[in-house]
Amino acid sequence: MPGAQAEGGALMTITVRFAPSPTGLLHVGNARTALLNYLFARRLGGKFLLRIDDTDAARSTKAFEDAIYRDLSWLGIQHDLTDRQFGRIKLYSTAFYRLQAAGRVYPCYETEEELDRQRALLKARRKPPIYERGALKLTDEQRAKHESDGRKPHWRFKLSCQKTGWTDMVRGPVEIDTATMSDPVLVREDGAFLYTLPSVADDIDFAITHVVRGEDHVTNTAAQIEIFQALDAKVPAFAHFPLLVGAGGEALSKRLGSLSLEQLREEGMEPMAVASYLAKIGTSDPVEPRLSLDELAKEFAFEKIGRAPAHFDPEELAALNAKTLHQLPYATVAARVNIPEALWEAIKPNLTRLSDAAGLALMVTGPVTPVIEDAGLTATAAALLPPEPWDENTWPAWTKAVGAQTGAKGRGLFHPLRLALTGRGDGPELKKLLPLIGRAKALARLEGKTA
Ligand code: GLU
Repeated sequence: MPGAQAEGGALMTITVRFAPSPTGLLHVGNARTALLNYLFARRLGGKFLLRIDDTDAARSTKAFEDAIYRDLSWLGIQHDLTDRQFGRIKLYSTAFYRLQAAGRVYPCYETEEELDRQRALLKARRKPPIYERGALKLTDEQRAKHESDGRKPHWRFKLSCQKTGWTDMVRGPVEIDTATMSDPVLVREDGAFLYTLPSVADDIDFAITHVVRGEDHVTNTAAQIEIFQALDAKVPAFAHFPLLVGAGGEALSKRLGSLSLEQLREEGMEPMAVASYLAKIGTSDPVEPRLSLDELAKEFAFEKIGRAPAHFDPEELAALNAKTLHQLPYATVAARVNIPEALWEAIKPNLTRLSDAAGLALMVTGPVTPVIEDAGLTATAAALLPPEPWDENTWPAWTKAVGAQTGAKGRGLFHPLRLALTGRGDGPELKKLLPLIGRAKALARLEGKTA
């Protein structure tokens, strides 16, 4: 499907955006936002804009920006277009002047301390800490006095103080009375734009059709809808999904630093395990591995996202990582593991991380220092080794013969053979390993020689 049917029957191209600020590494919460945007666009043949929200020049860095591109590409998320807010200030100024002409912004001269004091007073009177619009009550003389005192204004957007509503694709009908909110500051004393207006100006400029983000933005949305309307722009559709919490329901915000994609990658998590996990938690779908983002996109629907927070459990992710590895076809890992296909197939059920593969492969390629637990049994087993060619039937036939001759069975039979053949007490299935080890090495190891 190339697009969705818009009102009036015209075909509209779905366009979404992921708008991280390059002030830190992408963590699992950001990654989930990126992924849900991407899967939605992908499912409907839409476009995905990667917008770098770097209006905060003091905290934004090139290194974090580079990391965003690297992490998204690791996850398999490709953008159709990309831009950054730095350098688009003209667009934001134009939007600001339009709001000014419409009488929707006003200059404020309070200092941070004065605002703090006002909030404390309201709190003491058990009132919500909403900005009381003192700046709107200033006389021309008072304003002129502030200016001549050298105070620079910050600028607030004048909310309508009415009910603003939308039909959220996750939450259903939402209505917020903007009288319960402070007028948002759009421009700081130093003339810098804060996030609120540039985001709307960009959403208009890039013809964003759907804004998909966490529910921490619900209040922003009410203000931003009013800004879209004040700029005579079409308001996009909104979807706000519940945020991630820890396994025990605790807020993740403090731990997000250690839940960066970079860290998960270093810990050996597969990108498709991370993507499958982030796409499925908090939804009505089971948490199961998928091997491509396309598969996840086919299964994606906002209706499946629940209203309760999604639980992010690193142990559950690690388990999904193992399951993902067990399903990965050789072709997708060949370049990363550097072992032959038959060996991959033999060891993959035992992997929890791809980096375990090298150690497990050594059981076949050697050198293995055998552990001889029962010398009599291993000597008999060596004598009974059949001639090659070997296949998966060799192990059961051979151990049957060893068992018949020695009287050993169960663990007493298999464990000494495993220790001698691989040097370890556990590992992949021996019926698969034995033909790969081959007769010469197997014989040497059964005789206690390193091979
Ligand atoms: N840069 C904003 C953030 O990271 C974007 C929010 C939005 O999606 O509008 O929270």
